[in-house]
Amino acid sequence: MSSSIQMCDLKGQYLKIKKEIDLSIQEVIDSSAFIKGKEVNLFQDELAKYLGVKHVIGCANGTDALQIALMALGLKPGDEVITPDFTFIATVEVIALLGMVPVLVDVDPDTFTIDPIAFEKAITSKTKAIIPVHLFGQCANMEEIVAISQKHNIYIIEDVAQATGTDYIFKNGNTAKAGSIGDIGTTSFFPSKNLGCFGDGGALFTNNDALADEIKSISNHGMKVRYYHDKIGVNSRLDTIQAAVLRVKLNYLNDFNSSRIKAADIYDRLLGNCKSIKIPSRATWSNHIFHQYTLRLLKGNRVELIKHLSDKGIPSMVYYPVPLHAQKAFEEYQNKATNKFFPVTDTLCDTVISLPMHTELTEEIQRFICDTILNYLK
Ligand SMILES: *Cc1c(COP(=O)(O)O)cnc(C)c1O
Repeated sequence: MSSSIQMCDLKGQYLKIKKEIDLSIQEVIDSSAFIKGKEVNLFQDELAKYLGVKHVIGCANGTDALQIALMALGLKPGDEVITPDFTFIATVEVIALLGMVPVLVDVDPDTFTIDPIAFEKAITSKTKAIIPVHLFGQCANMEEIVAISQKHNIYIIEDVAQATGTDYIFKNGNTAKAGSIGDIGTTSFFPSKNLGCFGDGGALFTNNDALADEIKSISNHGMKVRYYHDKIGVNSRLDTIQAAVLRVKLNYLNDFNSSRIKAADIYDRLLGNCKSIKIPSRATWSNHIFHQYTLRLLKGNRVELIKHLSDKGIPSMVYYPVPLHAQKAFEEYQNKATNKFFPVTDTLCDTVISLPMHTELTEEIQRFICDTILNYLK
């Protein structure tokens, strides 16, 4: 059994929906409309309906989506953009690439999402936007972030790459899909994401008509009328074949996310009593669709645990081993960071470990994984 354990089982998931996927891809090949085929618009409309947003605009990947969002909001070099210190590099990379200043802030120790108090403290007269990241499958504390952002006139770009389908839960009990609350939501369809395609893909969401027009134009070489370029743009499209795959998988997204939640519940049950680990916390303001199932190791040696698991054929990953503020590429921004201490992120990077999490996990495999962990920690 152990030889078949994977962090993310894309093949197993494909085999379950193979017929539909193959048919959908074949239709694109038969039509030869590889760019801007009808599936792209259909998928955009279907995802918009699912998310409850007015506009979904496909693009080439989640990193491009973030870059296009910053450009569409008209941000300029020198503007400060606040992001969590604990996230994938893509969030911060595009800010620097556009000549803006990434301002990193610490995260909440329970949900690993951006700490609203640290966010407010980092605001200066140059702050123009915040990019909260809905990390590992649950939302950042949007109600607080929205309140602070409105007070200081700051744009919100939600990074939804790890949370497509997550429900934000407002204090009054209403819910909204992750990415539908801020000015723009951005996501990635990288194969291992909760909604993944068969290559690279991404999208932006917004309820604002003018922003949607800007996004469409910027992602298409800055033109609204063919060969008339109003702005400097980029070339970033969602391929028709990817849209065809995504249309099929969107129909299963709720089922896929339920499978992950079920698997997380089983991990919680099997590991919850162990004093040496802290199982993932679940925010009161969000459901958790477990893009990753990420533990904190409170006692014991992480390197040894990873080796112990790997010896038994169990993969594991550390998302993320190095805080962004300590990355070599971001050295020059460290002095500009208003908040130079990141005790929570430092601790998380030293103690987190993610276990296999995907839609094809069985309780038998999970028992084997958990027994192996508990064996090492006892
Ligand atoms: C995956 C990811 C991205 C980037 O998506 P790509 O499609 O790989 O460019 C951005 N932000 C976060 C939080 C991610 O996990």
